[in-house]
Amino acid sequence: AIAAPRALYAPARDNSGGFDVSDICALQRLDDAARTLPTYEHAGRAEQTVYSPADIRQRVGSFAWDSTASMQDKLARAQRAFARKDWLAPARAAFLLRLADALEAEQAHWIDLCAREAGKTLLDGLAEVREAADFCRYYAAQIQRLPPGRPHGVVLCISPWNFPLAIFIGQITAALAAGNAVLAKPAEQTSLMALHALKLMQTCGLPPDRVQCVIAPGADAGRVLVPDCRIQAVLFTGSNRTARWLFRTLAQRTDAPIPLVAETGGQNALIADSTALAEQLVDDVIRSGFHSAGQRCSALRVLFLQADTADRVIELIKGAMDELKLGSPQELATDVGPLIDEPARQRLHAHCQRLDKEARLLHVAKSAPTHSQGYFFAPRLYEIQHMKQLPEEVFGPIVHVIRYAADELPAVVEQINAAGFGLTLGIHTRIQRCADYLAAAIKVGNVYVNRDMVGAVVGVQPFGGRGLSGTGPKAGGPLYVPNLRRHDSGAGRQ
Ligand code: GLU
Repeated sequence: AIAAPRALYAPARDNSGGFDVSDICALQRLDDAARTLPTYEHAGRAEQTVYSPADIRQRVGSFAWDSTASMQDKLARAQRAFARKDWLAPARAAFLLRLADALEAEQAHWIDLCAREAGKTLLDGLAEVREAADFCRYYAAQIQRLPPGRPHGVVLCISPWNFPLAIFIGQITAALAAGNAVLAKPAEQTSLMALHALKLMQTCGLPPDRVQCVIAPGADAGRVLVPDCRIQAVLFTGSNRTARWLFRTLAQRTDAPIPLVAETGGQNALIADSTALAEQLVDDVIRSGFHSAGQRCSALRVLFLQADTADRVIELIKGAMDELKLGSPQELATDVGPLIDEPARQRLHAHCQRLDKEARLLHVAKSAPTHSQGYFFAPRLYEIQHMKQLPEEVFGPIVHVIRYAADELPAVVEQINAAGFGLTLGIHTRIQRCADYLAAAIKVGNVYVNRDMVGAVVGVQPFGGRGLSGTGPKAGGPLYVPNLRRHDSGAGRQ
């Protein structure tokens, strides 16, 4: 794998830019019949019903698990499709552009599915569609710049539930752009969206069998597919634990090493000194830490506040937390939707129970309305002493404040680097020297200065981490597609 380049400072950007109210109006016109997802079945296997994390009484659709035999059959089909070598670069680029257009044309539908299957707010759903379409267009453009070489073969794409459309589509389109076939393994929690997206790809002219989608619990699919030498590259976004398992399992194979791109978690910090613009800082803390219910690997987890101004900033954050509206992701006014499932909620409760003993709870946002029947979790603000109190990623809307004195900045840097994660970093300061120092000293993939630290834009802010946060080229960057080709000499362009 090629080492990830250091991120550029991200320019300020309005992440909801260009939001069109007609999207939501169209969404509200979809009637219930049109909103029920079809049933996806594999011959003779038990049906799984999917209920919405926002309201567990609401049935979203159903699917059936793949058996070991059907996983193997799909792998064999993908390999045969790859061996046909009949899908040339111009046709691949045209397909990706058609897919981008089709995603946008169905925007309201995807926003609705994101809300119902993944509990994403309408604005988060809209951002998903935009990012998915951005990936298609960006990787289509990369096809014109492919270096000599040839594709690897079948790429295993393992995608997470928190970006069920954008990362699912992003991984697949990169692998296809490079000329590979794909075996996609989406997160179980968002299987319906994946199956639906596959259908859309087929209607956009995907050659038969070129992309196969395996629906199975992660451990089962992993055990069957990863040791199989027909898998020739792996793109993975998910937990650190699974990434380690992937490395170990691939290392035990007897064939030559294959590329593994892993984008895992973070213990992301934002450092705000006493020169930070308080109101801007608070907006960015709320968006980075609590929006999307904190379920982004880029989300803010640890807020370092210079002690001189900390009390004032904390008071402002508390006020902003009181304004947050938890509730149905299908209502435009909702800021924070549900967590993905009950185990996610249990993990956060266990974390809070521990912190309640050893840290100071500064504030809790208002809960969801009592009639809500979803996996809601009210955002919380804690004060802790040291990042050692957070041995693992906390995947939800919890921000931990640590105060530091002006002369302790080197110790803050050391603390963050010692934690070993390295995904995103936020810096709020009006002292250029301070921003330069922190950006150079802290080992992370993406640095954001005086803005929020989520929502990396394809092609503008290539996204990926260092250390425990991942390896390989960044998604949405110029090295991602070339990494999915073999650069051995004598090969032509395919
Ligand atoms: N790319 C996303 C962002 O910049 C995060 C991806 C993830 O959570 O896996 O917020």
